[in-house]
Amino acid sequence: MQGVNGAVSSKVAVGKSIIHGKGLFAQERILKGEAVVDFSRAGGEILSEEAAAAYFARGNDYSIQIADDKFFVLTDTSTLAEEDFSNHSCDPNCGFRGALLVVAMHDIEKGEELTFDYAMVESSSFYGLNCHCGSKLCRGVVRGAIGWIQFSRSAIKVISLNILRRK
Ligand SMILES: [Zn+2]
Repeated sequence: MQGVNGAVSSKVAVGKSIIHGKGLFAQERILKGEAVVDFSRAGGEILSEEAAAAYFARGNDYSIQIADDKFFVLTDTSTLAEEDFSNHSCDPNCGFRGALLVVAMHDIEKGEELTFDYAMVESSSFYGLNCHCGSKLCRGVVRGAIGWIQFSRSAIKVISLNILRRK
């Protein structure tokens, strides 16, 4: 792992993404189950929704919802870069183990961009993101897990597994 406190795997590097801006890319083959980003090692705090919303209002949207009223917020933005949060994909190759560890959901080949499904980390109904992931499973607009009704069956499976693991 590299970066502050080894939060990011040494097997990944930042590169230009065709999905959005910059993203994380595999520099070598990453095997299913391998950890790629450990947010618990980054400079963040677990905050209530109200406190997290205050950060969001100030332009800090580096947050991961871990329970109904608990959000991990990257309060020290010097510890991880925006791209360390990976881009969203409706057909992601990474998921979460526990609340804050991002792992490969299947083997990832060298050069592939690492993505996770943002609905895995956000259940609020107001969340909305226009998606350009290009996947055949693309939902168009990504909403919090409350909007599950419009998701594909495979996406629901991935998302619900992640949410259930936390309960
Ligand atoms: Zn999409």
